[in-house]
Amino acid sequence: MTFTYEALPMRVVFGAGSLRQLPQEAERLGVRRLLVLSTPGQRALAGHAATLLGEACAGLFTEARMHVPVQVAEAARAAARDADADGCLAIGGGSAIGLGKAIALSSGLPVISVPTTYAGSEMTPVWGLTDHGRKRTGRDRAVLPRSVVYDPELTLRLPVDVSVTSGFNAVAHAVEALYAPNASPIVSLMAEEGVRSMAAALPAIAADPGDVRARTDALHGAWLCGACLGATTMSLHHKICHILGGTFDLPHAAVHTVVLPYVAAFNLPAAPTADQALRRALATDDVPKHLARAAAELGAARSLAQLGLTERDFDEIIAQAKAQPYANPRPVTAEALRSLLTEALNGTLAP
Ligand code: NAD
Repeated sequence: MTFTYEALPMRVVFGAGSLRQLPQEAERLGVRRLLVLSTPGQRALAGHAATLLGEACAGLFTEARMHVPVQVAEAARAAARDADADGCLAIGGGSAIGLGKAIALSSGLPVISVPTTYAGSEMTPVWGLTDHGRKRTGRDRAVLPRSVVYDPELTLRLPVDVSVTSGFNAVAHAVEALYAPNASPIVSLMAEEGVRSMAAALPAIAADPGDVRARTDALHGAWLCGACLGATTMSLHHKICHILGGTFDLPHAAVHTVVLPYVAAFNLPAAPTADQALRRALATDDVPKHLARAAAELGAARSLAQLGLTERDFDEIIAQAKAQPYANPRPVTAEALRSLLTEALNGTLAP
């Protein structure tokens, strides 16, 4: 066993009702003028957070969008300057948190994050910006939120379809962390437990979205899976999803949900330890099929065709996926990629 492990400095405040601790978190960080960030859909929640912060809120910017278009990032940076903000509070899903990271990247302002989906961005130093249909990403410690407040009560109204796909997005981080080139025993423990917790929670959430216990388990799983994403290098799955989101504008979490079983079917035969961990976590002896069927049973899209992709898009995806090398348990040839995309396009694992 050989590995290198470096823990990221992160503070987590977890528990139902923990949003109320926001003012203390701001005070602890020494920030007095926070710009509150959200997507338009979460404006009311952002307003609630602003009220809780009182004088420590310097303003709101509620125009966050998926994949952080550069124009939106520039507008938010200007809003932070105009408000003389000394920090940001990103409340909502990965879109709001990504915007906070974009501001931190150019200004160094600290970010407090209150995630209300399971995407996991709050646990990573990875930023992303989209310009002219290309998404650029990078790693920078400056964008890692200084404090993360996980409050399951804020997720009670997360629609079931978003909860399911967002949950599979989290599971995808854990799957790729288990066979990452920089995997380590502690990350693998987090990954297995993260998958177990999320997989148990999602059917309970689908049955009763207001089940605080299930919401708590899902957010716990999301935290662990997000930490796996922050600690390791992602492989083929994230590469494909990044292209499908950035270039084809397909919905981030739904794409992760459809693609994951097909990448698992391709990679797990070459990653037996990861396969074993996932079999334990999901209580199955066929991880790819289990993932595809569980997602379909929970109402997620079954195929990339359903999300609007066509075979004509394959050449561009393959060209982009081959353009920059990345680690993967199996070598990724153009033929292998075409065959994987064809399976995912048709949803063959969940007919
Ligand atoms: P999102 O933030 O766009 O949220 C999805 C939808 O859910 C939105 O319409 C939002 O308004 C709604 N929503 C969020 N919280 C809600 C709540 N509590 N109740 C009701 N509705 C709610 O999408 P996402 O899937 O969370 O994040 C995707 C984005 O995050 C992508 O841009 C992706 O690239 C990025 N991401 C980045 C990282 C990273 O490490 N940098 C990791 C994961 C995801």
